Amino acid sequence: MERTFVMIKPDGVQRGIVGTIISRLEAKGLKLVAAQFTTLSEEKVMEHYAEHVEKPFFPSLKAYVMSGPVLTMVWEGGDAIAIVRRLVGATNPAEAAPGTIRGDMGMETGKNVIHASDAPESAAREIGIHFAEEELVTYTRIDESVLYE
Ligand code: GDP
Ligand code: MG
Repeated sequence: MERTFVMIKPDGVQRGIVGTIISRLEAKGLKLVAAQFTTLSEEKVMEHYAEHVEKPFFPSLKAYVMSGPVLTMVWEGGDAIAIVRRLVGATNPAEAAPGTIRGDMGMETGKNVIHASDAPESAAREIGIHFAEEELVTYTRIDESVLYE
């Protein structure tokens, strides 16, 4: 089982599509193991987006993700990191495939609805930034025995 960090960005919250996005991840078979509805501090944004702080778009990215509340989550499942990235779609919603969250629910890169970890290392790092280990819950989904071989 893998864990991945997912965040519904302020535009997703403000547009009222939090439930739709959660439903897609639940329907896929992923298990929600942590969630917090919060507004990001500047410190957390710098840490979370450490790889992008020197990029020209960083000031607008920082303003965007701090512009309102976000829903931070941890989702668990077999191959969860790659599966969630595929469900989320390409960074630019204008080019993201139909059927993906960004492809179906966004218009441009600067407002792309959702974040998801891109690799095991970044998932572990991002979960550690946003959650304490004891905030991750352990339980069994009733359908786990039929979701997996
Ligand atoms: P992701 O992993 O698909 O989210 O994409 P990246 O790691 O490349 O970028 C992180 C986030 O920065 C993206 O999801 C966007 O919110 C934002 N971003 C990336 N590139 C640009 C850009 O060229 N312009 C703006 N305004 N935002 C960008
Ligand atoms: Mg990224």
